Amino acid sequence: MQGFALYPFDPPGDVAALRAELRAWLAANQPRGDVVARANCWASFDTDFSRKLGAAGYVGMTLPPRFGGGGRHPLERYVVIEELLAAGAPVGAHWIADRQTGPLILRYGSEEQCQRYLPGIARGELYACIGLSEPGAGSDLAAVRTTARETAEGWRINGQKIWTTGAHFSHIMLALVRTEAGSERNAGLSQLLIDLDTPGITIRPIIDMADHHDFNEVFFDDVLVPHGALVGERGQGWRQVTAELGLERSGPERYLSSHALLAALIDAAGVDPDPAVIALIGELVAEMWTLRQLSMSTAAKLAAGEDPMVEASVVKELGNAFEQDMPRRVQAIVECPWDDPSDLGRLLRALLIASPSFSLRGGTREVIRGIIARGLGLR
Ligand SMILES: Cc1cc2nc3c(=O)[nH]c(=O)nc-3n(C[C@H](O)[C@H](O)[C@H](O)COP(=O)(O)OP(=O)(O)OC[C@H]3O[C@@H](n4cnc5c(N)ncnc54)[C@H](O)[C@@H]3O)c2cc1C
Repeated sequence: MQGFALYPFDPPGDVAALRAELRAWLAANQPRGDVVARANCWASFDTDFSRKLGAAGYVGMTLPPRFGGGGRHPLERYVVIEELLAAGAPVGAHWIADRQTGPLILRYGSEEQCQRYLPGIARGELYACIGLSEPGAGSDLAAVRTTARETAEGWRINGQKIWTTGAHFSHIMLALVRTEAGSERNAGLSQLLIDLDTPGITIRPIIDMADHHDFNEVFFDDVLVPHGALVGERGQGWRQVTAELGLERSGPERYLSSHALLAALIDAAGVDPDPAVIALIGELVAEMWTLRQLSMSTAAKLAAGEDPMVEASVVKELGNAFEQDMPRRVQAIVECPWDDPSDLGRLLRALLIASPSFSLRGGTREVIRGIIARGLGLR
């Protein structure tokens, strides 16, 4: 049984100074983005902003200096991403590369892969996407069917990925593929780093119900990548992906996607708010604070080099429920017609449409609850 642990959040250095420095930087450099782009902002894409943020040292913070990184502590990075998300900064372009692809390459990749990819990631210029889901393998990732066969020239890849966020602007995909012919379930899978301009790759947009192009289908038709594209150990893809998901599930992005709505609600409340609005603001702030403590403690466990699979899943599940319910709870007490042009009205509309996806991305609610139950010895 894995159990559940709370770790103290104790970043080195002067955290107040780090926050103040970043807030000043954001005041000078953050684009005057539309209020809707500030909600769920880790899905908002702005390559200029990512590059400037990288130049200021706020991307690739935990990567070693010899690969262009900042050599900072993971909890200092946590403080920085919390500030960026709270400010609604458009961090979507570099988000996946910074959060998980870079650290995964550092942990499992070869020296050549580190030299080739990490400096661009740290500059906020090299973007990555996650090649896990397939038409028959989303929650059940062990059903992955995309194959990579080793030949004299390299790996030949055939198959299809789906729901790939950002594939249309990314440079690389870290893909989970079946490298061992005849293997089943979670055996025989490996991770490959695929340059997305390789011949034979077709990327087709999927437009979501908010009319946004975030997702894609990615087809591999006899794609040849070098032997050196293998990341980590052949056949160990399942173990590596599980580690990657730990990085994906517990950060402040798991409870701050609707944060801009809370700020707009407070702004719109005025000096003499309705008691129901006051009560809702109080509830939301208290819940968010509790989630924050849980997320920070999980980050501390990760930073200590341990595997917080259960804690990360709890943060994801409770955080997603919070950020998903917030628009509905605001809608229930605030008079706001569907076409209301105020910031509050526009944010509410956008989040009511986007929020159903919050508990799907990164693993669906039912699957996450299964992981928690198993980790706590309840099933
Ligand atoms: C905004 C967003 C971004 C995404 N980005 C990416 C990305 O960049 N890369 C990527 O690879 N994928 C991405 N995904 C895909 C996402 O990870 C999958 O959609 C998700 O894991 C669910 O898989 P599925 O859609 O195949 O649903 P299914 O697995 O078919 O599930 C359908 C339903 O059945 C339930 N279910 C499935 N198995 C079980 C079970 N064992 N017990 C109980 N219930 C079960 C699920 O919870 C769900 O409600 C993204 C999804 C979203 C919404």
